[in-house]
Amino acid sequence: MIMRFLLCCGLATVALSTQAMTLYKSTDANGEVFFSDRHTPGAQAFVIQERRIERVKRPVRELPMPSYPQQAYRYPFPWRGGPFRLSQGPNGSFSHTDAKSRYAMDIAMPEGTSIIAARSGVVVKTENNQAGRGNDASGNFVRVRHDDGTEGVYLHLKQGSVSVRVGQRVGLGTPLALSGNTGNSSGPHLHFVVQRATEAGLVSIPYEFNQPVGTLPNFALGN
Ligand SMILES: [Zn+2]
Repeated sequence: MIMRFLLCCGLATVALSTQAMTLYKSTDANGEVFFSDRHTPGAQAFVIQERRIERVKRPVRELPMPSYPQQAYRYPFPWRGGPFRLSQGPNGSFSHTDAKSRYAMDIAMPEGTSIIAARSGVVVKTENNQAGRGNDASGNFVRVRHDDGTEGVYLHLKQGSVSVRVGQRVGLGTPLALSGNTGNSSGPHLHFVVQRATEAGLVSIPYEFNQPVGTLPNFALGN
């Protein structure tokens, strides 16, 4: 009986440590059952399969808010002239409330201010023909994909002022367009946002200018 127990333990060990093997069950003259990995006449074959491991399904948990590593790059001001001031900052209650624009900054400036690339990259999308509010809340814009995959987007530009084309490589300071007041804009300003493509679409990521920007209180209901 003890032998049989030990044999069973041995079998269990074999089953755990192999993917698949064949064992032969025989009964000796005394009626004792034994197992061997060699075939003997009259033995009964058992194929021991790899143990199947069922993955335990865990309850779906709500994903935590993604954390964004602090960007090493500090953006120079994407305009010439000034000084201009922030009219709505990150998480501004007027329009910086969704994933695409949460960390955008609005800088109030006169229409026709020269907008320049704040970081080098390749122009991947532009809009240049929108008059006034138009159909697109972004108005006219230039989208530049940086070498690290993030994208800088310059919005509400003046109709007909975009001076770069899709596929063009731009360097820091390359003129892109003139500022305007097109799309969903409550006054002449530049909306500058840095985004990253995710499975859920484009999301705005935090960024910082390389120098302080003053704020305009109570403009555009922003923060
Ligand atoms: Zn904005």
